[in-house]
Amino acid sequence: AAVEGFDPEDIEGAIEAAGHGPLPVLAVVGRPNVGKSTLVNRIIGRREAVVEDKPGVTRDRVTYEAEWAGRRFKVVDTGGWEQDVLGIDASVAAQAEYAIEAADAVVFVVDAKVGATDTDEAVVRLLRKAGKPVVLCANKVDGQSGEADASYLWALGLGEPHPVSALHGRGTGDMLDRVLEALPEAPAQTFGLGAGGPRRIALIGRPNVGKSSLLNKVAGEERVVVNEVAGTTRDPVDELIELGGITWKFIDTAGIRKRVHLQQGADYYASLRTAAAVEKAEVAVILIDGSESISVQDQRIVTMAVEAGRAIVLAFNKWDTLDEERRYYLEREIETELAQVAWAPRVNVSARTGRHMEKLVPAIEAALTGWETRVPTGRLNAFLGELVAAHPHPVRGGKQPRILFGTQAGTRPPRFVLFASGFIEAGYRRFIERRLREEFNFEGTPIHISVRVRE
Ligand code: GDP
Ligand code: GDP
Repeated sequence: AAVEGFDPEDIEGAIEAAGHGPLPVLAVVGRPNVGKSTLVNRIIGRREAVVEDKPGVTRDRVTYEAEWAGRRFKVVDTGGWEQDVLGIDASVAAQAEYAIEAADAVVFVVDAKVGATDTDEAVVRLLRKAGKPVVLCANKVDGQSGEADASYLWALGLGEPHPVSALHGRGTGDMLDRVLEALPEAPAQTFGLGAGGPRRIALIGRPNVGKSSLLNKVAGEERVVVNEVAGTTRDPVDELIELGGITWKFIDTAGIRKRVHLQQGADYYASLRTAAAVEKAEVAVILIDGSESISVQDQRIVTMAVEAGRAIVLAFNKWDTLDEERRYYLEREIETELAQVAWAPRVNVSARTGRHMEKLVPAIEAALTGWETRVPTGRLNAFLGELVAAHPHPVRGGKQPRILFGTQAGTRPPRFVLFASGFIEAGYRRFIERRLREEFNFEGTPIHISVRVRE
């Protein structure tokens, strides 16, 4: 496309950059204290994944976006969870398992100064079973003298150990080059095996909102088609469930059913599980307990699904217990606390009585439809032209920025690039987003809009 004042190559580049699909996922796994979080900090180039000295510290954030050599990917940090009641081996294995399941490639971090331990060997067995590409990181090689320690790790049978100092950055570039070779361009979950199969649903929500009750309700009344996909050490992970005459794949039903009560790190464990399920899913059904105030934890889960770019349905559960007053206050809370997903279809259900279960499927379908909608460029520009003519951007400093051209660069979720003659203010961007949603029925999906400004 030719846009006044833009270099055609820049336009193509902008569309390509904005149109990327879901990003591939890299998991960083290993025993506590080997330096996973330090390495994640290095990879994302920020101080976000704060390294804490306290063991068992809870962190709600587990997924970060990263870029290396011009390629973008997601990193799952499993460093936030320490030994718990399960014992060291089981807890490392469980966290690694979730992370590996959601990942397209794995960095396995070993403390080269300590050498391989039995726990490391246990993780190696998990990695073998999972069959995902693995890059072996021999960490804490702070200088030349440590290189010998790293070479002992050949014995793990995972190929070449990459000597790295996550703390000082030594060797991390070479290792990341290897990671990029191991990492596919696009996640397999989305474009590979899953494509064309049953749609994938992540049923998520904080503990006690009624996830397992809801699952039992839908799986109990309808037919559980087949238990499939054996986990690496656990039982079936995902289940195919027929609902509204359609077969859906419910992600991580094992995790929902098995109510793991952990003392330390339980929140972190739940976050990791939720993040893994969201990564594997196309649509997130976020369950919220309508009888209680909407909490920060509910909001975090919503944010996680929005940031992952998944289709979203909000289900308010325990409706059977709500009196008129609570219903009134819930509406106010939804307006203020869940404004970021005001566009999400909403159902008020009761897993106990079965109320409105039949409304779930239409809501999920509406969300998936919006998530996959592609607006033809001609239609989009006709719409933008009328919109901008009727509601021009406010004049700033004697100039009036105009939107010259727009195109939808990608779907799942929809991504748009707008080319403008000047800086477009946040308020006007929100206005455009709102009108786009109304016009093209983007219900239940985040939409991304990037604006390129003419030099
Ligand atoms: P995690 O539990 O695996 O996430 O480990 P952390 O990232 O929290 O690191 C554990 C400890 O090892 C911290 O005190 C880090 O500063 C230290 N550490 C991490 N990487 C290196 C490294 O490359 N060299 C050295 N000397 N120490 C490191
Ligand atoms: P999970 O932790 O999200 O899987 O939540 P559960 O399914 O275990 O439910 C937590 C508690 O809420 C249990 O005591 C359930 O019986 C109860 N519960 C779940 N759904 C409903 C509902 O729709 N109505 C009522 N009254 N209680 C519910």
